[in-house]
Amino acid sequence: MKGKISPNRLDRGFYKYQEEFEQKAIDVLRSGWYVLGNEVKSFEEEFAAYTGAKYCIGLASGLDALWIAFRVLGIGKGDEVIVQGNTYIASVMGITINDATPIFVEPDEYYNIDASKIEEKITKKTKAILVVHLYGQASNMAPIMEIAKRHKLRVVEDCAQSHGAKFNGQMTGTFGDIGCFSFYPSKNLGAFGDGGAIVTNDSDLDKAVRIFRNYGSEKRYYNKVVGANSRLDEIQAGLLRVRLSHMEELEQEKTTICQRYLEEIKNPVFELPKIRDGATHIWHQFVIRCDKRDELISYLEANNIGSIIHYPIPPHLSEAYSYLGMEKDALPITESYADTVLSIPLYIGMTKEEQDYVIDKLNAFEVQS
Ligand SMILES: *Cc1c(COP(=O)(O)O)cnc(C)c1O
Repeated sequence: MKGKISPNRLDRGFYKYQEEFEQKAIDVLRSGWYVLGNEVKSFEEEFAAYTGAKYCIGLASGLDALWIAFRVLGIGKGDEVIVQGNTYIASVMGITINDATPIFVEPDEYYNIDASKIEEKITKKTKAILVVHLYGQASNMAPIMEIAKRHKLRVVEDCAQSHGAKFNGQMTGTFGDIGCFSFYPSKNLGAFGDGGAIVTNDSDLDKAVRIFRNYGSEKRYYNKVVGANSRLDEIQAGLLRVRLSHMEELEQEKTTICQRYLEEIKNPVFELPKIRDGATHIWHQFVIRCDKRDELISYLEANNIGSIIHYPIPPHLSEAYSYLGMEKDALPITESYADTVLSIPLYIGMTKEEQDYVIDKLNAFEVQS
């Protein structure tokens, strides 16, 4: 195998549809219209149709989608939001930017929130559940929605890693009040820069987000609320439309690679990902667990294979959240995942030869210590 195999190769994703991307970029550049124009409008319609939601509002990032979601739901100081412990820290920031308090719940064996542990965390202050469809697999939405209904809680979905993932045939992002998406370049539907979106079936929420993203104004220079500047750029929207038109092919390609991984990685020192009944997995990441992770990372490095830890420090133990006062061992399952998970190379345009090499090297790994 020549050269190093990186955990991700965004260039390959570009070259796959190079002509279409380049043509679209030139079209937008030549149009003379760069913010909130026809590309954003068309992307919003097409992405709403893709998810099956009534409305989609393009935003500047996934983090913006998250905090604006809680903002328009009126969730803030004194309110509690339930979220899984093992998520990307941006999920938690979406809550805390609004001065609301995150209440962490341990994950299940599929790396999503353990629905059976939600109810014990509900208090009088609980206002919402933030469901993160981590790594690309849909969470256990049936019990989660049942609990939310019974306790009259809002549900926000963090779909930054789950574009196209379904639970019982329904797209993630359409179960709760608001679905939040990121189009960061490495996501399954990635832009060539930052981008995000909210989807919802509620026309009032659609309107509120639309106003909020544009300085709180519905009509130019008439401001209803103190809002943000959080708009998806025309050029990103145009490039996203190109990629969205190929989503089925892109999903299939990653699924095919991951099916090989599931079938052909046979080394008993790894815990391979499991797929939940009724859920689909769109494989944002292929995450294995290994008790000797440091040793594994060094071994892979020595064999020119890159890997990434998603994520080494759970939010409750991060310096940013030291003010929450949570100690080590507060969330043992979350922390054990943080100590053992590893994402192996997976990307659009990964050659069969690269896949073979990764599989062979993983199968040949032996624990030394
Ligand atoms: C990437 C990501 C975000 C943040 O999205 P940005 O567009 O990078 O701001 C939020 N939550 C999860 C789970 C993510 O993976």
